[in-house]
Amino acid sequence: MSVDRGAGDDDRDLEAELASAAAGNSGIPFDAICTGCRRVRVKRAKPEEVGQHPQIDPAQLEASDCSSFKHVCHHCQKATFWNPLAVLSGLLESDRGDGDE
Ligand SMILES: [Zn+2]
Repeated sequence: MSVDRGAGDDDRDLEAELASAAAGNSGIPFDAICTGCRRVRVKRAKPEEVGQHPQIDPAQLEASDCSSFKHVCHHCQKATFWNPLAVLSGLLESDRGDGDE
């Protein structure tokens, strides 16, 4: 068995992370890495916080086009910079409509 994924926690529940207050309550859900402790967590950021146009369609957004953004890290216990790793567009959809169709 070689589990070699760097961050090490494969049993993450992205939806639960997104639903938690730690992720923030508005903005696009990103999988992002804390520049302080290198932990990967789901964090929400508004488009303008990652250097994008406020009206951008998040589904068209690439994490590589986004700048780092400031967010509270509960491990560092302060606001740190987070580098976007991926736009969680799957969570975005479930976030918008609540299961009707
Ligand atoms: Zn941190």
